[in-house]
Amino acid sequence: MDYEFTEEQRMLQDMAYRFARANFAAVSQESDEHEAYTAEIRKKAAAQGLVGAWVSEEYGGSGAGCVGNAIITEELSRVDMGIALNVTAATFGCEAIFQYGTEDQKKTWLPPVCAGEKVSAGAFTEPNAGTDVAGYKTRAVKDGTDYVINGNKMFITNGTVCDFMVAACITNPDEKRHNSFSLIIVPADAKGITRNKIHGKLGIRASDTAEIAFEDVRVPQANLVGKEGNGFRELMHFFDTTRVMVAAQALGLSEACLETSVKYVKERTAFGQPLGAYQLTQMKLTEMAIRIEALRGLVYKSAWLIDQGKPDYTLAAMAKFFGGQTAVFCANYAVELHGGYGYIEEYPVQKWYRDAKILELYEGTKEAEIMTIGRYLQAK
Ligand SMILES: Cc1cc2nc3c(=O)[nH]c(=O)nc-3n(C[C@H](O)[C@H](O)[C@H](O)COP(=O)(O)OP(=O)(O)OC[C@H]3O[C@@H](n4cnc5c(N)ncnc54)[C@H](O)[C@@H]3O)c2cc1C
Repeated sequence: MDYEFTEEQRMLQDMAYRFARANFAAVSQESDEHEAYTAEIRKKAAAQGLVGAWVSEEYGGSGAGCVGNAIITEELSRVDMGIALNVTAATFGCEAIFQYGTEDQKKTWLPPVCAGEKVSAGAFTEPNAGTDVAGYKTRAVKDGTDYVINGNKMFITNGTVCDFMVAACITNPDEKRHNSFSLIIVPADAKGITRNKIHGKLGIRASDTAEIAFEDVRVPQANLVGKEGNGFRELMHFFDTTRVMVAAQALGLSEACLETSVKYVKERTAFGQPLGAYQLTQMKLTEMAIRIEALRGLVYKSAWLIDQGKPDYTLAAMAKFFGGQTAVFCANYAVELHGGYGYIEEYPVQKWYRDAKILELYEGTKEAEIMTIGRYLQAK
């Protein structure tokens, strides 16, 4: 048993944090205020090997695996989780291509994303089907050698900035719900696609979120990922790894809340003493620190197990569930410890408070995680 990162992983950790400090901090407030997607930062990050590091070297990544990707995600999210998403989610959707795609698909779609030249998206959620993954309505009908796609997608990260997306589409409408859809690669510039940015998000405002409409969109049938009708299983497998990364985002954000709070309570005085001298303050810091350490264990154990080829999906769902809770908890205490200053934009904790909530919503709401954990526990 070894709890230490390797020398290489420690260097990656240090490099990722320094990259975020140097590139995110100065534009954090502005990109939050103006909902500005930071393409230049993504490209710079790619040049440092921080985009798609989980992808193996033969397809353009650096083969850092799930642990390496969790390290990057944690360190970038420690500075600004919204901007971090523009780096870490630049490959979103590619997990399915990597896991289930053909050799040709992997060679075509993965390298340009890892190089920062292109951006991908995972287009699954629909206006009337989020948690109910098998309730999608978007149809892909065969016509000659193509699929013709019609339907709508909602809340798609990178929706207006992506070059292609992996979309869930009903291909087998006569089958039972869980056997009815497939994952298909759709170039974002295909004729018949309309993309509209969603404005006014509570947090992660630097990340691009969009609704997407498909109207008679033609893509070659060669763009099918995996097997036709197997989309549900592929998507569940996909989420089993991406969930760990959401938990790593939560870890980074929670750490930022604790670090900033510790610094603040040492400096701020009340009743003649620093806030940190009071046991009520210490209790808040302690509760944050304990949760962060427990989360760290969940994140890195589940990431390590994936890299060992022994994924524990229950643990990954636990990491995602606990991560969301921990981030919301820590951000709440961070605002409280900063008092009135925690409520104004001069201090970043108000932003982290807004950013944290998404961790309990996307890639499975906390209720969805509970259902997953409950089901897995009984299936063992
Ligand atoms: C900023 C942002 C980025 C996103 N990025 C992406 C993306 O890149 N790609 C993508 O495909 N999607 C994305 N999503 C969508 C996200 O994954 C969904 O919003 C989420 O899965 C919930 O789906 P929903 O919004 O349809 O809510 P619903 O499924 O309608 O759920 C509403 C509430 O009901 C609860 N609920 C649902 N079913 C049950 C049940 N059986 N028992 C108890 N409670 C239940 C839910 O937990 C939730 O609290 C994103 C969302 C946001 C806000």
